[in-house]
Amino acid sequence: MTSIALTIAGSDSGGGAGIQADLKTFQELGTFGTSALTAVTAQNTLGVHAVQPIDTSIVIAQLEAILDDFTIGAAKTGMLFSAEIIEAISDTLSRYPTFPFVIDPVMIAKGGASLLQQAAIVALKERLIPMAALLTPNIPEAEVLAEMPITSLSHMEIAAKRLLEMGAGAVLLKGGHREDTPFAEDLFVSADGERFIMKSKRIQTKDTHGTGCTFAAAITAELAKGAPMTEAVITAKHFIHAAIEDGLSIGNGHGPTNHAA
Ligand code: PLP
Repeated sequence: MTSIALTIAGSDSGGGAGIQADLKTFQELGTFGTSALTAVTAQNTLGVHAVQPIDTSIVIAQLEAILDDFTIGAAKTGMLFSAEIIEAISDTLSRYPTFPFVIDPVMIAKGGASLLQQAAIVALKERLIPMAALLTPNIPEAEVLAEMPITSLSHMEIAAKRLLEMGAGAVLLKGGHREDTPFAEDLFVSADGERFIMKSKRIQTKDTHGTGCTFAAAITAELAKGAPMTEAVITAKHFIHAAIEDGLSIGNGHGPTNHAA
């Protein structure tokens, strides 16, 4: 049976992040990818030139078209841009049978462009995070959501607990941005009491565009194929490690991770 995954995210014209990264990753991991676009970005490896959100009625129409027809194995969100779009996604998904739902709380692109309006953070916390089987923040995103600075593993533990208390089924707090260790330590905790750390040597490369999108998409693909959450996270960690190690030096800025590594 063909496993079907869904991404609800923004387009990256440069092809390294967003919907493009998600669909390539879904394909690479043997799932059929569907997509509902929330925004279009004009973007390359040097940065974001322009952002245009999609009309909310069209976001809803895309979701309805997909959910009325396909049996979705798992879904993820990426760039959501506004409170209005987040509320529309929450309302629409709650009218359909549930599936494992991964929220990658995308906020700011590497170059500093905002991919989520400030006013949308409350909507993300109240309307979407409680629906998530897994939340996958990096450190800057977890700092915003948990409202605390994170500079150590013990800070990561406290922040992850706070995020679980917001209603997510599990939290994968990605430690790649931490500066006090040569390792990338990702902390997984679940509402069921599971806890583990995935530790890998930090890879020295500038070509990491789309890392977060690709990691969350890989987890989503594994969940769509029926893998249990912890297994999906561990398989996806291997996938993203290889994708970063084999990052593509294309364009003149931060090249993309290699989805086909
Ligand atoms: N553009 C879009 C549409 C995204 O969804 C994301 C990340 O989620 C980015 C850009 C940012 O990617 P990066 O921070 O890896 O440059």
